[in-house]
Amino acid sequence: MDNKTNVVDVLIVGSGVAGMYGALQFQDNTSVMILSKYSKTTSNSNLAQGGVAAVLDTVEDSFELHVKDTFIAGRHENDPESVDVLVREGPDDVRKIMEMGVRFDRDKEGELDMTLEGGHCRRRIVHFKDCTGAEMVRGLLAEVEQKENIIYKENTVLCRLVRVRSGFRADLLQDGEYYSVFCSYCMLCTGGVGRVYKYTTNPKSATGDGIRIAYELGAKIKNLSYIQFHPTAFNSEDGEQFLISESVRGEGAYLLNCNKERFMDRYDERLELAPRDVVSKSIILESRRTGSNNFYLDITHEDADFLRERFPAISEGCARYGVDITKDLIPVFPCQHYLMGGIEVDIDSKTTVPRLYACGECANTGVHGKNRLASNSLLEALVFSRRAAEDIKRCMQNGFAKVSELPVNLDFSGAPLPEGLRTEIRNIMQRAFFVLPDAGAIRFGLKQIDNILKRLKGAKYAQTTKYLEALSLATCAYIILKEAEENT
Ligand SMILES: Cc1cc2nc3c(=O)[nH]c(=O)nc-3n(C[C@H](O)[C@H](O)[C@H](O)COP(=O)(O)OP(=O)(O)OC[C@H]3O[C@@H](n4cnc5c(N)ncnc54)[C@H](O)[C@@H]3O)c2cc1C
Repeated sequence: MDNKTNVVDVLIVGSGVAGMYGALQFQDNTSVMILSKYSKTTSNSNLAQGGVAAVLDTVEDSFELHVKDTFIAGRHENDPESVDVLVREGPDDVRKIMEMGVRFDRDKEGELDMTLEGGHCRRRIVHFKDCTGAEMVRGLLAEVEQKENIIYKENTVLCRLVRVRSGFRADLLQDGEYYSVFCSYCMLCTGGVGRVYKYTTNPKSATGDGIRIAYELGAKIKNLSYIQFHPTAFNSEDGEQFLISESVRGEGAYLLNCNKERFMDRYDERLELAPRDVVSKSIILESRRTGSNNFYLDITHEDADFLRERFPAISEGCARYGVDITKDLIPVFPCQHYLMGGIEVDIDSKTTVPRLYACGECANTGVHGKNRLASNSLLEALVFSRRAAEDIKRCMQNGFAKVSELPVNLDFSGAPLPEGLRTEIRNIMQRAFFVLPDAGAIRFGLKQIDNILKRLKGAKYAQTTKYLEALSLATCAYIILKEAEENT
């Protein structure tokens, strides 16, 4: 497809696992455009370490057990229909991406090597070393690049969506230039909101743009305050956080307090393999008990060669800070990691706005309930982006009208965004709504965010990426705190 095309059947905003797998479901006669705000590999998907949970072996494991584990982790707030769809349809999607060339580790007999993570009662997580997401992105991108019906625009920001007859006008910003693309259907696959926090495992793309854009269109947003705090992010002195995957605990690591003692038995009988929210809360309670924020993972009792082979990226990341995981304790502390809620969708990923779909981390499918079970999100991205594409295909077959092009002049000029506003939002959220939030902090934070939002909307700022991201962060922070205030 021509790079200058400005009318497409389907616009997919986001090039993580949800965006690319969704795009690959369309036939050659459907024109698809994928947008990526930054580079092709700047996404949560690309950073995923642990793997994908799927029942690929029905002798040792079963759909019922995976459903049960998902409900226990989600504190039974999960949507039963979507969990059932996730668990039963997911294995076929995992097989499909393997056929597309995505690799997962295998044992000496050539069988898939399944690992264990917190909250799972069986070894059911397929992985590629400790860089599963990067391997999935590599494999899917290679497929996307072969497709003539897909146009891929890197470093291109969706500023906003405007409803027009039979579809949307998407206002885009690329290399400092604004232009519009028209689409009959739009799939928002924009990922999470991690950057709303000072400390997060998420990359710079995770500013909640899709959620803000859907909200502006009047779409229903649900459970945005269901934020997952991962218990074990590397706790560096420079404040940079990267994930120490749950599978490190799955392979036997102990969690230690400032006195280098295991302490999880004080809080939960599942010890280090309790679900993430339980481990995060236990760390915060233990830090209050001991008066220290120093916590460690210890996996030095495992074989050094096994550790280097099994966790190459984590070994390398720790080594950059002078920590040898085969000999040293790894300093860890909880930080923002994942968003369970998002844009409300039905079982086919349809939002409450006609022709608008949302998939992956920006969507609220209800599969995760109050707390996501480890490695269920890549599976969710696969299953529900495929279902969105299938629904769009059904609509197209039923003769839905195509979008018609309208002339448009975009004037997005204005004053530059004041420096430091995004940092201010992130600091406010870190204080207002962390692992064990309290009502006073939420109320105070909400007032501060409300003021910032009014400032952002009141003045005429130039619609730069910085401004748009600040607007997304403030909008998402506002919705999170408002919902949290109502719930407490
Ligand atoms: C460190 C880390 C480890 C993880 N490990 C696992 C794991 O082991 N297993 C698991 O199941 N899950 C894991 N997760 C979660 C999982 O990776 C994500 O939930 C999932 O990849 C989300 O995929 P996505 O396609 O919805 O979003 P993403 O992969 O985040 O992609 C979002 C895309 O949207 C684009 N975008 C955003 N805004 C705009 C805009 N305005 N205009 C244009 N493009 C835009 C971005 O550029 C990006 O391409 C992990 C997450 C992190 C951060």
